[in-house]
Amino acid sequence: MQYKSTRDDKIRLEASQVIAQGISEEGGLFVPETLPDLRGELSDLSGLSYSALAKRIFSLFLTDLSQEEISACVEAAYAPEKFDGEEPVKLVSLTKGGDKKYLLELWHGPTCAFKDMALQILPHFLTRSMKKALPGKQAVILTATSGDTGKAALEGFRDVSGTQILVFYPENGVSQMQKRQMETQEGENVTVCAIEGNFDDAQNTVKRVFTDPAMKANLAAHGMVFSSANSINFGRLLPQIVYYFYAYFSLCRTGALRLGDPFNVAVPTGNFGNILAAFYAFQMGLPVHKFICASNANRVLTDFIRTGIYDRRREFFATISPSMDILISSNLERLLYALSGEDSKLLAQWMGELSETGCYQVAPAVSQKIQELFFGGYCEDQRTARTIRQVWEKDEYLCDPHTAVALEVYRQYIQETGDSDTPVVIASTASPYKFPESVLASLGEAVPEDGFAAMEALQSFSGMKLPEQLKALREKPVRFRKTIAPEQADAFIRTSAGIGEQ
Ligand SMILES: *Cc1c(COP(=O)(O)O)cnc(C)c1O
Repeated sequence: MQYKSTRDDKIRLEASQVIAQGISEEGGLFVPETLPDLRGELSDLSGLSYSALAKRIFSLFLTDLSQEEISACVEAAYAPEKFDGEEPVKLVSLTKGGDKKYLLELWHGPTCAFKDMALQILPHFLTRSMKKALPGKQAVILTATSGDTGKAALEGFRDVSGTQILVFYPENGVSQMQKRQMETQEGENVTVCAIEGNFDDAQNTVKRVFTDPAMKANLAAHGMVFSSANSINFGRLLPQIVYYFYAYFSLCRTGALRLGDPFNVAVPTGNFGNILAAFYAFQMGLPVHKFICASNANRVLTDFIRTGIYDRRREFFATISPSMDILISSNLERLLYALSGEDSKLLAQWMGELSETGCYQVAPAVSQKIQELFFGGYCEDQRTARTIRQVWEKDEYLCDPHTAVALEVYRQYIQETGDSDTPVVIASTASPYKFPESVLASLGEAVPEDGFAAMEALQSFSGMKLPEQLKALREKPVRFRKTIAPEQADAFIRTSAGIGEQ
């Protein structure tokens, strides 16, 4: 399979090049030339284990890796000891009172957030891709994080030979536990740094350095290239396609659905990566009826879905679901590309307007298609907190603030459409123990100031198992304490990558 760019028709690359490079030279995102069609194969696939399903799907996309290589990647990434169980994801029914809600828990990996699903396997894809596409070169992974990507990427890439990883997080934009996870990161090839500003500032800084020709030349002179672990890298999206199929097949096995029946998917959304993976699964033949796109107070996507106008010129809110505090959802570009007849000129124009004016409006026909497929809704902190409490009281289920946003927006969806009959899979994207302060406060409990005391208080309140990897952070020494201004990033990166000051 070949890949093309959303902003330039003429580009065609192999999968290994796409994964090694991360983003296209002119700023476009890589997408498959055509998506594989699994419609005729659904029943054969429906009995597969997670690993077997992953191998089948990956082999359709990564056509320049061998079956053996793909198998090795999958076995290493989703080993039972890494994901706390035989299958890396768990499907939990919340069906009290006739509800047809199923939570897809995607956070049983090493960092307790769904990012592990992709970032445990991306380093394996990347090192193999580098050997093919850029033999002898070292990859410098540059990543901006709204909290969970950074830790998951660090954990995935730590001590992977032939790679270095640098992570930037917004100084005041991540939770106590997320910060602690990153500043205590172990590994010889890792660097972590806080950056002044919010996530968009961090992401823009990384994008600027990433595309700076002088920096690129300097790296090249040292046998290095930049690559990305952000969800602009297609290698991040691909692993996420698998669990939507897997969740659907699991519901078919339990009898909640019959093969071929439609279901809904609800996703707490930030950069639009996770929900886009569901959309790709749909284009490959998964019978999704509606994509429920849930935002927090940073409701730029809700407004876009409802009006066709994407306008980032608005106040930025730091919320209790920090991994969704984003005003530029990068992966939306891929959806627009798919729904605008793959018109790269149009995409280049819209994205140009976004970077120049902060706003663009899509053609009415595109907006209409989006509304047919997507329901957009948002939920502010107070409602998020209320949802955490209500779900605990009704279903005895403890959810994190991101998952709560999706649960609430799903409730709004039912209220607006009356569609309570179609079963829904709701992506549960983080362990509640990653955000113990917000969860305790939502439950009306006292909140200890210390993050670890808060975790323990939440455990005694709920009786739910506390992940070892979070508990263990208390004993780990802090290794990274630096905060820099965005304009200091270039020099910082040169020093960290060992290519000197200029
Ligand atoms: C990253 C993240 C999200 C948002 O996912 P996108 O793919 O960026 O839309 C939601 N919840 C949690 C816990 C996350 O870490």
